[in-house]
Amino acid sequence: MPTTRTKPVPLFDAKIQNKALLVHLEEAFRRVMLSGQAIGGPEVEAFEQELAAYCGAARAVACASGSDALMLAMAAMEIGPGDEVILPPFTFFASAGSISRLGAKPVFVDVDPDTYNLDPHQVENKITRRTKAIMAVHLYGQCVDMEPLWRVAERHNLPIIEDACQAIGSEYQGKRTGTLGSMACFSFYPTKNLGGFGDGGMVVLSDDEWTDTIAALRNHGSKQRYYHDRMGWNSRLDALQAALLRVKLPYLDKWCDARAAMAKRYDRLIEENQLGYLLKKPTVRPHGRHTFHQYVVRVGHDLRDELRTYLREKGIGSEIYYPLPLHLQEVYKSLGHQPGDFPACEKAAKEVLALPIFPELTLEQQRHVIGACADFMRCRLRMAA
Ligand SMILES: *Cc1c(COP(=O)(O)O)cnc(C)c1O
Repeated sequence: MPTTRTKPVPLFDAKIQNKALLVHLEEAFRRVMLSGQAIGGPEVEAFEQELAAYCGAARAVACASGSDALMLAMAAMEIGPGDEVILPPFTFFASAGSISRLGAKPVFVDVDPDTYNLDPHQVENKITRRTKAIMAVHLYGQCVDMEPLWRVAERHNLPIIEDACQAIGSEYQGKRTGTLGSMACFSFYPTKNLGGFGDGGMVVLSDDEWTDTIAALRNHGSKQRYYHDRMGWNSRLDALQAALLRVKLPYLDKWCDARAAMAKRYDRLIEENQLGYLLKKPTVRPHGRHTFHQYVVRVGHDLRDELRTYLREKGIGSEIYYPLPLHLQEVYKSLGHQPGDFPACEKAAKEVLALPIFPELTLEQQRHVIGACADFMRCRLRMAA
């Protein structure tokens, strides 16, 4: 009888959250419909102000996606052909793609093997006279170790761009993402910690001149309608997205705290089940708030892919962020990298596994996920004996 089976555990589920907020979301939807303003306007402006305030920053410019936020930020800095931007190879493609699409060159620096974030101590070696910026990608919701990075950036007079697409609400030494560099880029892709109902993004900053430039760039480089000062494109945010995201923003801190509590519970369940042989828990640095966009374990003994298949058979979602480092991607062949160039990153790509995490995940579901990992380990140990 299938009644003894536990329900599947999805990697992510937005429906529970949407259902709980449905009345308010519908109200926002109606407000936009009846306003007659579909793109930009007061909803977008209010959302920009609210998000800037949430981060503790002065300004924010909404745009069409997190990828565009990165491109807009660097375009405002006039980064282009002949320029280099330093970043880690262990991140979502858009971090590097945004650099390449501006005609500039991504220059990779290996990651800290414990946090998977850019290793700030390896950055200085890669700085040349073409370097125009350093991109700090706060992976999985944990901030890059900024203190040493600030020192390098200051010594070489380089701006830091935060790729905070996975780290809205995360903190370093009490300061939030959005205030840790010159500009910060956020994404409202539906699975992000603040997820919209389609694509959306934001650049958060404190410089007025850059703010005006980015506002023009997202609108074909136009400050006054039909007069174009610079080469921009269409990267505006819909009023509907802004209105719906404004409903969700007040809950974001509560959701981030729920994720962090779940991460602690996963940690405890891994310990209680003595899974140390199979799984290494995520390393959390004491330098600030980790918002656990992802809960990522490291699977030892080359068992990651087998464990993933096992979990899938049990109806448990999991994901690999990211299976192929950026320096080994086909599209970056021309950069001339080889396997072995960034060993910490390449090892992580073979071992990391993200387990289900979202604010409404129950303890029962977490027990089921870790219980399945424990079953898998018992099977493997029996086979090995
Ligand atoms: C999601 C993400 C992006 C891109 O955001 P989109 O809104 O999907 O364009 C960029 N960088 C990182 C690290 C991301 O996780």
